Formats: sequence, C-alpha cells, structure tokens
Amino acid sequence: MSVLKRKLEGRAALVTGGSRGIGAAIAKRFAREGAAVAITYAGSQGDAQQIVYEIQRDGGRAMALHADSGDAKAMQAAISTTAAEFGTFDILVNNAAMLRVRAIDEFPLDEIDRMLAINVRGPLVAIKEALRFMRKGGRIINIGSVTSDYVPASGLSVYACTKGAIASMTRALARDLGNAGITVNNVQPGRIDTDMNPADGPLAERIGHSIALGHYGNPTDIANMVAWLASPEAAFVTGTSIKVDGGTSA
Ligand code: NDP
Repeated sequence: MSVLKRKLEGRAALVTGGSRGIGAAIAKRFAREGAAVAITYAGSQGDAQQIVYEIQRDGGRAMALHADSGDAKAMQAAISTTAAEFGTFDILVNNAAMLRVRAIDEFPLDEIDRMLAINVRGPLVAIKEALRFMRKGGRIINIGSVTSDYVPASGLSVYACTKGAIASMTRALARDLGNAGITVNNVQPGRIDTDMNPADGPLAERIGHSIALGHYGNPTDIANMVAWLASPEAAFVTGTSIKVDGGTSA
C-alpha cells in the first residue's frame, strides 16, 4: 500500500470561480491532495455542483457557494462560511475573472467597472476577509495572466490592466504578510484551453502562434503549479509571479 503523504492533508481552501476551467481543475487537484475545498460560482450552479459531486465521489470534502466576486458582501460571506464549515482557512485562490476584448474607445464604462470589480476588487476583498482566519503557513495564490507583461493582440487594455494589478498586489502583500508566515504568489497562465479562451476559438486565431510549445495548455497545467505553491515545499516562495505559458513570453 502507498505510504505517500498527500501534500494538503488537513488544510482548508477556497477557490473563487471553481465551477469551470482552471478553477475547477485546481479544486479537484486540491481535493486529491487531501484539502477540504470550497468553490464559488456566479452563474454555473449545475457545473459547480458537478465538481462538488466528483470530489465527494472520490472521497473528498467539498462545497459550492454562490458568490459573485464583484459583490463584496457575498465574497465575505463565502470566506467566513468556508472557515466555519471546515474549522480552518489555510489557502485562498483568487481565480475568478472576466475577460472582454475591445478597443478602449469602444468600452462601455459599466463594463470597465465590472471587470475592475471582479478581477481586482474581488481578490482584495477576499484577501482582507481571509486574513481574519488565516494563520502561519497560510497561502494566498492569485491567478493573473501572462498578459500583464506581454500583450500579443489588440483590445486587451482593460484585462491586461487588471492582471497587472494582480502582479503588483502580490508583491506588496508578500511584504505585508511575510512576518505572519503567509505567502502570496501569482500564477500567470498563458493560453489555456477553457471556455474563456478555447483552443479553437477566435482569440486562438490571433494569438495561438505565440506559444513556443506550439499548442494550448490544459487547466491541469495550471493546477499543478498552484498545488505546489500551496504545499509545504513552496514555503520559501513569496511575492513572485510565475508564468505557466508554454513559452508564450519567451
Ligand atoms: P473560465 O471563463 O473558463 O471560467 C471562469 C470561472 O470563473 C468559472 O467558474 C466562472 O463561474 C467563474 N466566474 C466568472 N465570473 C465570476 C464572478 N463574477 N464571480 C464568481 N465567479 C465567476 O475562465 P478560465 O478558467 O480560463 O480562467 C481562470 C483564470 O485564469 C482567470 O483569472 C483568467 O483571467 C485566468 N487566465 C486564463 C487564461 C486562459 O487562456 N484560459 C490565460 C490567462 C489567465 P460561473 O460560470 O459560475 O460564473
């Protein structure tokens, strides 16, 4: 019988936007590593319940919480519910985000506000609330984008700006939270095949050529890095942005 210890045994995590794509892959990977996992969703209740079902079927602990990342009260409630249900709060993954591709002069102001609210304010609110419960050894992992440093196509100004903010907040928070023994890191995916950016979608035609490895990545490619950052092996890694992009920015 295997005596390999699972990396996240006894830990409790919340993954925002865990109903589909990269967030769902992270939640399932965390559960396989022994963590109890809460996922949030905004619209896809059925998908969220399916992820919870799959984790529980495989012997894990999970729950789905309806919480729009643009709604501060809902985010706060999701965090405190996670801590109350699991009895601890160790890992926060800020994954949920919105992407709209448009030239800045054509962007409706309410769409800019919504992207800033979901992609930037949401993570800040979640981190602020999570710190009420997180202790030494806690992990904050933001999902940014390679687009904060490298913009391969037009129409990405607002999205790139939100992901640049994620990289900056990661560095600054690592300074603030170092003494508390909490690490803060930013995983920057390149082109990953999800509903947001399908490998056969319109964005792929414009940016697919930029991938050094010649193909899109899978959500599990990101989950592998996030699981490592959440583990004790990454205890001395903080304040950094790590690209998982198949060489897109090489
Ligand atoms: P998807 O669009 O495939 O999935 C997004 C997830 O976030 C869904 O679970 C969705 O749930 C949830 N979500 C969306 N809006 C909200 C909201 N307002 N409140 C709560 N949950 C929300 O995206 P990806 O999996 O591709 O992206 C995940 C992360 O990776 C994002 O931060 C994205 O910016 C980043 N990224 C992705 C890349 C890619 O190529 N795919 C490249 C670089 C970065 P629901 O359906 O219930 O709303």
